[in-house]
Amino acid sequence: MKRCLALCLALLMLPASTLAENRVFYEIFPASFRDSDGDGCGDLNGITEMLDYIADLGAEGIWLMPICPSPTYHKYDVTDYKAIAPEYGTMEDFDRLAAETDARGIRLLVDLVLNHSSSLHPWFLEASRCLANGEESPYTDYYHFSQEAIPGWHTVPGAPGWYYEGGFTYEMPDLNLDNESLRQEILSICKFWIDHGVDGFRLDAVLHYYGEDIAQNVAFLTWLMEHLREMKPDIYVVGEAWKDAGTIAQYYPSGISSLFNFPFSGAEGEIVNAIRSKKGASFAKKAEKWYATVSANGGVDAPFLSNHDNARVAGTLMQKTANLKLAASMMLTLPGNPFIYYGEEIGMTGSGRDENKRLPMIWGENESICLPPANADQTASCQGSVREQLHDPASLLNHYKTLTALRKQYPAIANGTLTALETENNSVCAYRLEYSGETIFVMHNLGRKEATVAFSGSLVAALPCAEGEILLNDGMLTLPAQSTAILK
Ligand code: CA
Repeated sequence: MKRCLALCLALLMLPASTLAENRVFYEIFPASFRDSDGDGCGDLNGITEMLDYIADLGAEGIWLMPICPSPTYHKYDVTDYKAIAPEYGTMEDFDRLAAETDARGIRLLVDLVLNHSSSLHPWFLEASRCLANGEESPYTDYYHFSQEAIPGWHTVPGAPGWYYEGGFTYEMPDLNLDNESLRQEILSICKFWIDHGVDGFRLDAVLHYYGEDIAQNVAFLTWLMEHLREMKPDIYVVGEAWKDAGTIAQYYPSGISSLFNFPFSGAEGEIVNAIRSKKGASFAKKAEKWYATVSANGGVDAPFLSNHDNARVAGTLMQKTANLKLAASMMLTLPGNPFIYYGEEIGMTGSGRDENKRLPMIWGENESICLPPANADQTASCQGSVREQLHDPASLLNHYKTLTALRKQYPAIANGTLTALETENNSVCAYRLEYSGETIFVMHNLGRKEATVAFSGSLVAALPCAEGEILLNDGMLTLPAQSTAILK
């Protein structure tokens, strides 16, 4: 009891900001981010070169899309879980990147693809060879093989009469996560990356671990999280459960740190819907309901606008600067760990086939240009290159920087409990965020007309996205069309 009291007192004496763990992350597709050696392929050294840019943007975490050897450009089918794809660099390059992120207080996450391996992974090749020769192999139980032609299963190369499960494609055989040796391999892979300095993982396709059996998927995640926390007590793990809110909520009891907030993201998600419909008040109510669900399960939300699988938000919102700024204002004033997808901060476009969503970052004229993925059939446009936007105070990039700085200055934004507030105007999204004795108010006017809201307090930040001035006079807040006020 005494020790507990002493610990509580020690925690109380810390400034609030050191207790704040939530932070902004930045998702990177390494092949398209920054090429350090002029071969046209982005690489790990390119990312290390740009860490000051990422820190300046206000991101305090990075999620690297897969970096392990793979036969595909996207690398979501791994052939060696403990190595770096040669086109991205070497293990030494990775260690330098990990050290340099650490020096800047940036947390580093790597993508962990556990649902399936590549069909060229040595485990699968050996299992297939043994089936073809009628030999026993420990690796046949790493996958799901059958002599029954189950619909959707694929024929095993060289082994007539044998089939295997590959839910995504034939190049991605599903792993049998019940196999005890495979589970030990998984823990060894996690330990390998933790020993190389990662702070956590992004888990690919958690919905598909056991078909779509939620109970079994959650049991596996529970097992994984327990072991990961033994290896690294402060590990951060964010899962991809690309589904509705009700389903995502069922994954939080696994103890996973975060799950991406798919219902708020994308072209049909709540943030874009609210901007299009101008229904601010109903967005605030939906946010309150969702954040209550996440905190009741001990999780931290991970909102985002679009990722490598979605049409980029800039195109969805017709490349209108005011809309893009408003989308950023909405995402970056929500609690939790928001994920900015590289290029989003400069308004890069990309839609249609996946390659178009992963186009080269636009740094500036003739600057470290990466070649686009081979099958891309679009060229990205943007609101101006990084170089151009850095020098324009009114740019989208500087709008992102203002928002990330506010999150650091007022920890209630990133860490607070969200309560929706009623105003007389349906276009206004208003909520309160409370954290560690601090209360912050966020008000977005999503409408195309000026809105006024009675408010007695003070204006902390005025973030107009279009024309007009945000004013607080005599207890009345004036919000021009498409603007955000942060108050206390
Ligand atoms: Ca390169």
